Amino acid sequence: MKIGILGGGQLGRMLIQEALKYDDEIYVLDPSSSCSCAGISIFTVGDFNDKADVFNFGKDKDVVSIEIEHVSVEGLEALENHGVKVIPSAKIIKIIQQKILQKEFYQHHDIPSPDFQTIQSLNDEIILKFPFVQKLNTGGYDGKGVQVIMSETDLAKMWDAPSVLENLVDIEKELSLIIARNEKGEIKSFPVTEMVADPKLNLLDFNICPTDISSEVQNQIDQIAEKFMDAADSEGLFAIELFLDKKGKVWVNETAPRLHNSGHQTQEGNANSQFEQFYRVLKNLPLADSSPNGFSGMLNLVGENNHTGKVKYEGIEEVLKLPNAYVHLYGKGETKPGRKMGHINVLANSREELLKQLVQIKSMTKVVSE
Ligand code: ADP
Repeated sequence: MKIGILGGGQLGRMLIQEALKYDDEIYVLDPSSSCSCAGISIFTVGDFNDKADVFNFGKDKDVVSIEIEHVSVEGLEALENHGVKVIPSAKIIKIIQQKILQKEFYQHHDIPSPDFQTIQSLNDEIILKFPFVQKLNTGGYDGKGVQVIMSETDLAKMWDAPSVLENLVDIEKELSLIIARNEKGEIKSFPVTEMVADPKLNLLDFNICPTDISSEVQNQIDQIAEKFMDAADSEGLFAIELFLDKKGKVWVNETAPRLHNSGHQTQEGNANSQFEQFYRVLKNLPLADSSPNGFSGMLNLVGENNHTGKVKYEGIEEVLKLPNAYVHLYGKGETKPGRKMGHINVLANSREELLKQLVQIKSMTKVVSE
């Protein structure tokens, strides 16, 4: 089967790594000929935001999917009209691409998400009470395009652009649920993962799976997942990012219609990984067993501040001496401050042991330039 993927980053790379067990041709479209997938796929240089590039890339494929959501929806719609299978649907990608449409989608389908208003520009009246969070309608990524407005004095830093303003949640934990659906309508999720963020970089640093939540909280998450999958009405693999607030209520932050950083520890941490699951979705195969192999976690290998240029990984050989640690590098030649360059997965027998090992490995490793 000819599988086409828009985007050639690490998510595509790890999908290909898994899919190579089977017999398919994997095609990738990305603007950069040095991207993570270039050397390991049938590669086309092109702009996944350009309608014609997307259509020309996808028109002779059996299925076209994405590993980044900022792609030309018009191109995907043209492919759907041409008879190419597009996963997930162009319709749900379009909703998720725009924070305003995404929030309205949650509201319409009675999916709990922080109260909000929308603005087109700073000329619009702000009715939401302080403190709130401003999220740009488009163009945000990895925490960029998101800022907290605490009080009147912060108003001066607001962006003059179409945005969602939403209540600031008093966060106890940030959680993520990865859930997949194939064409037959089979649905399977992974255990809920806890994401521990780096406040400075706004990048998630550690994942811990499974998280430690009550059955009542798990029920809230199950209900959200069911409503979301019904409303999305599309095959695909989705990462639903959630906040558990200090009062025990679960809110949807946002959803990614694709493979996700919060699922990387599934590579060794579960019977099958998110990448295997996504491959099965693309081929409408029976969905894979996602049960956990005990406790697993992940830490991102992120480019150090003040280091730009040819990458050097410090401490990796020490990590490789450890019994339950697994190194994954993304094939990016150049490091930049905050750039995700790889990750390390860790298995453990308890949450305490897992956290200890993650912290230890974090202190042993560094991504610098030569
Ligand atoms: P991105 O899509 O850029 O990752 P997010 O919407 O996930 O942006 O926001 C990034 C981070 O900002 C979240 O992980 C969370 O820590 C914080 N955040 C976002 N929305 C809220 C909110 N309503 N209340 C409190 N914190 C928030």
